[in-house]
Amino acid sequence: MTMTRSLLLSEIVSGLALTLKYFFKPKVTLNYPFEKGPISPRFRGEHVLRRYANGEERCIACKLCEAICPAQAITIEAEPRGDGSRRTTRYDIDMTKCIYCGFCQEACPVDAIVEGPNFEFATETREELMYNKDKLLANGDRWEAEIAANLRADAPYR
Ligand code: SF4
Ligand code: SF4
Repeated sequence: MTMTRSLLLSEIVSGLALTLKYFFKPKVTLNYPFEKGPISPRFRGEHVLRRYANGEERCIACKLCEAICPAQAITIEAEPRGDGSRRTTRYDIDMTKCIYCGFCQEACPVDAIVEGPNFEFATETREELMYNKDKLLANGDRWEAEIAANLRADAPYR
């Protein structure tokens, strides 16, 4: 039997038939980074600090995110402004410590600190992963549309 299979090359033929079958099926792979798969609205990616539509920063410096962070990655300093509102003067995240647990986002009463959909923020140095307030606000400006849509999509389940 084995001899017959060898003579007829049946294993090669069935292998080629399998190849031919999958040749015409839809591809299961993506041509990353030009193609990207869908991600959940709850995806916990790179952090951002968000603003209100009028440009005012949302964060009220309550420090709940700093307190709840299990990795102690967040450092906040704050003082009252001239108008009496309380805002941060420093908001740092050490992204090398962060474990992307999402607790900071859950703790925030005003949806200021959010883990956005961006997962492409690999760096070549540790220093680039020491995020400050300017960087986080810039991230927020960049990703606001996607983040607002994700929060809206997830709202019915919270
Ligand atoms: S995601 Fe978790 S570990 Fe990272 S900064 Fe927020 S609370 Fe800390
Ligand atoms: S980001 Fe949210 S939880 Fe953190 S200090 Fe600001 S308002 Fe409070």
